Amino acid sequence: MVLKPKIKKKRWKASSERDIIKFWANNESFKFIQDSKKPVYIIDTPPPYVSGRAHLGFAIHYAQIDMIARYYRMLGHNVIFPACVDRNGLPVEVKVEQKLNKSMHDMDREEFLKICKEELDQAEENTLQVMKWMGLSCNTFYGSPEIFYQTDSPIYRLNTQKTFSIAWYEDLISRGVRPNNWCVECGTTIADAEIEYRNDESFLHEIVFDIEDSEDSITISTTRPELIPTCELIIFHHSDKRYAHLEGKNAITPLFNKKVPIQKHREADPEYGTGIMMICAYGDKSDVKIIREAGIINPKTVITAEGKLNEVGGKYEGLSAKEAQKAIIKDLEEKKYLVSSTDTKRRVPICWRSKTQIEIITMDEFYLKQVDVLPEIREIVKQMEFYPKTNKIILDNWIDAISTDWAISRRRFYGTSIPIWYCSKCNTANVPKVEELDKYYEAWKDKSPIDNCQKCGNSLKDATGEERTFDTWFDSSISELAACNYEGIFFPENKSEFFNENFPCSIRPQAKDIVRTWLFYTILRSYHLFNEPAFKQVWIAGLIRDPYGGKMSKSVGNSVDPLLFIQPAVLPKDTPATMIPDRNSWKTITKMEKSPKFSGKNANPNFYYGADSVRLTSCLQGSHGSDIRFSLSKLDGNSRFITKLWNIARFISIFPFEESPEQLEPTDEWILRSLDGLINRCLEGYSNLDFSIPAENLYNWVWNVFAAHYIELVKSRAYGENGLDESEINSARYCLHTSLIIILKLLAPITPFITEGIFQSLYEPKHSIHLELLPKTTKEVLDNTRITNELLQFNSFIWKAKKDNKKSLKEPISLVIIPEILSPYSNDLKAMHNIEKVTIGTPDKNIEDEMDRGEYTIKF
Ligand SMILES: [Zn+2]
Ligand SMILES: [Zn+2]
Repeated sequence: MVLKPKIKKKRWKASSERDIIKFWANNESFKFIQDSKKPVYIIDTPPPYVSGRAHLGFAIHYAQIDMIARYYRMLGHNVIFPACVDRNGLPVEVKVEQKLNKSMHDMDREEFLKICKEELDQAEENTLQVMKWMGLSCNTFYGSPEIFYQTDSPIYRLNTQKTFSIAWYEDLISRGVRPNNWCVECGTTIADAEIEYRNDESFLHEIVFDIEDSEDSITISTTRPELIPTCELIIFHHSDKRYAHLEGKNAITPLFNKKVPIQKHREADPEYGTGIMMICAYGDKSDVKIIREAGIINPKTVITAEGKLNEVGGKYEGLSAKEAQKAIIKDLEEKKYLVSSTDTKRRVPICWRSKTQIEIITMDEFYLKQVDVLPEIREIVKQMEFYPKTNKIILDNWIDAISTDWAISRRRFYGTSIPIWYCSKCNTANVPKVEELDKYYEAWKDKSPIDNCQKCGNSLKDATGEERTFDTWFDSSISELAACNYEGIFFPENKSEFFNENFPCSIRPQAKDIVRTWLFYTILRSYHLFNEPAFKQVWIAGLIRDPYGGKMSKSVGNSVDPLLFIQPAVLPKDTPATMIPDRNSWKTITKMEKSPKFSGKNANPNFYYGADSVRLTSCLQGSHGSDIRFSLSKLDGNSRFITKLWNIARFISIFPFEESPEQLEPTDEWILRSLDGLINRCLEGYSNLDFSIPAENLYNWVWNVFAAHYIELVKSRAYGENGLDESEINSARYCLHTSLIIILKLLAPITPFITEGIFQSLYEPKHSIHLELLPKTTKEVLDNTRITNELLQFNSFIWKAKKDNKKSLKEPISLVIIPEILSPYSNDLKAMHNIEKVTIGTPDKNIEDEMDRGEYTIKF
């Protein structure tokens, strides 16, 4: 019989991934079967914000979340893995404002929302496309299109409003005029969780304040002289003898001549500047606290929402904070109140989106209770499993740092409308009850669904609807409810029953940079709504960085378009230049300029790797929870493993898959045992949702043990050379195929395309490997590391000996003396190395031409 490979294609091409996607779609491979008996596993997919084009960091993060889905599916779970998109929030508004060169407040609101929506639709298409091509097995793409949501859809927004209504009637929402973080650039309040810090160049000014009814004066150090008009207090530390005599006296603010009490205070830092500080409304969070504790109600603030000085600023009214600072310093200098100005660094709170300085100003906002329930939240958090355990600390630290309630109202347009109508007679805020919210209401334009004012009974026909929207996190912090079919968002006919059976959600996978916002808020809201943890498991991934550890960003040019690696043929024309790495930007981000594939005359613009290589590389670049450094050179190297796997499968496909013989040959017995060890190591990594462990183990074992040694040992036996009996031949063939199937299944969650391709061409045509179960070890795992080491060491010795003697690998060897432990494998060793005679024993020094290397004796 002539043996020919069953797998015809000589190379696995990345373009074959498209055929696999087609197969999954045609066969509805990942359809969610509602009446299945399998346990349900629900993934709270992070709804990606669709703005601009998806970058490589996004693609990798989501591919790793897909590994969770595929792993649980192969454990026998019925997995809900929704595709979803977040479309609420600032970036699209800012983008449209820039495009039209107009503030949204100067536009018709309806018209503005329409343009935002068009912008989002475009970006959404690209985001979903990248998810699909990265191999995400979302139900949405493959048989269950209903398992999909957009955070700005009427049904999702209705759920946001309903959960707000519940909180309202449980007295969890308060309204107050309180000092708030305000981003002038974005024109909105922002939450503490959205603040970042940066060290900016600044001046430390020393300014003289007179003391009332005295010749005495003090010198105060400040970086923000423009806040002098709002100075409410002057403080020094209890231990500071320099100022003790001033306690109870008043200082007079320069230029503004306001009387301000001087007090002892533990928050004063004797080491900072002159050690005596002015407390203004508001320089920072600590000013807010000190002023509140001092019982000063509604202190006057000077910075407006536009970042300018108001009437409290006197002659400086109308100037921006920066301009006012300059003008005030100039006047102080003229009037001899300025002692000095020195360079300093100032830790400035900045907005996480616009990266501009935050002001603290008094705003009328709605708040969701959080400070009072922190002890309960800490208890709830303990009920969840964290992957990795160490990343839980990010959440714990944040909970410890929370000092104010969550301001949830925003003065923006593209967000979920806050469903409140104000009575025209008594101005009471009327919120519809859950059952009255029969659809999503836009309070700024829709009539109230409630007829009469809850307080005075007046008709609400001419009530004024609330113009503000919710903080975008108020929408996304109920994503886990959507994933669990809350209010029938996916399956309207199976509303409460499904939710009640399956909540809390199985897992929250997310990146560590949104623990303070998305994770914390979701846990908080779930606690308020159900008094339950939102999730059973929380998986917190590190960030994707460039080869030098830099954060990927479009403006730096180190964030590339993932399509370049996975589907370059469809790279759209509008891809920003910074996302297409030309030769120069490659130089800056990777060391690939030496690769002929990407540079120079031989550069091949059509060369690409496919999603499998990108996915595998992401796993091989670091353990779960730590940051991943992604480089093209690593991708290039790891893609060779994909090729290697194809070559191995193609070779094995030469042989028929025989039944297991009654007696396995020792070499075959050895590889199956070694495989058991591999299975165990992989399953342990998988159970910790750390995909670097199976990836590394498989990579090393397949390449360095299976291909390099086992296949070589049994090759000639599998071919049936030298008059072997059937059982010996079948034993090799059986084990080659059995090993390959196990390798494919273990690799399937990580590299879903090639494993599917091989599995279907060799074993079960038209049946997806992803619907199989992960392998289990067949028996008690025996440690055979010693035999493995002996075999590997012996083979390497022979290869080296031949090489050292300038002989080809096929050249015969007349005699080898091997130790007892290798004796069961002697026939296979003979065939592998073309050895004429093998004897068992200790190395023999008396053999002529012997090459004694300690344990073995060899004679050519
Ligand atoms: Zn901002
Ligand atoms: Zn009323």
